[in-house]
Amino acid sequence: MCYYSNIPIYSNICGHSFCMDCWIGHFKASFQSGSIFLSCMNSDCKCPLLVETIKGMLLLYGEEGMNLQKKLKKKILEEFISKNKEYQFCTGVNCDNCIKLNTKVDSVKCTCGKAFCFKCQSDDHYPLKC
Ligand SMILES: [Zn+2]
Ligand SMILES: [Zn+2]
Ligand SMILES: [Zn+2]
Ligand SMILES: [Zn+2]
Repeated sequence: MCYYSNIPIYSNICGHSFCMDCWIGHFKASFQSGSIFLSCMNSDCKCPLLVETIKGMLLLYGEEGMNLQKKLKKKILEEFISKNKEYQFCTGVNCDNCIKLNTKVDSVKCTCGKAFCFKCQSDDHYPLKC
């Protein structure tokens, strides 16, 4: 399938091998359609391509790979947060941390220094109500 012999080849856990360019292209297409869970590029194969494998590839893919990796991390967190209501993204600029709700008060503080209200996501306004 891959004719570019000068590009590193990666094997999925099922043993199907494609070059890195093809895998990254496959990843980008799926990612843009909103999915982070990839299956093997071999159309007859239902084997998953593990997130760890994708991350490993992106690490070697230069600046574009780094950007995609950041987006992937964020996407994984978004999925996690959508299923776990006691977590939320920090509202700080340039901060991608996810924060666990403190059960006693609605105000939370991120390690980046940003303090905000878990309920309304505006800056911390404790002890005022939202
Ligand atoms: Zn290829
Ligand atoms: Zn496969
Ligand atoms: Zn933060
Ligand atoms: Zn509030």
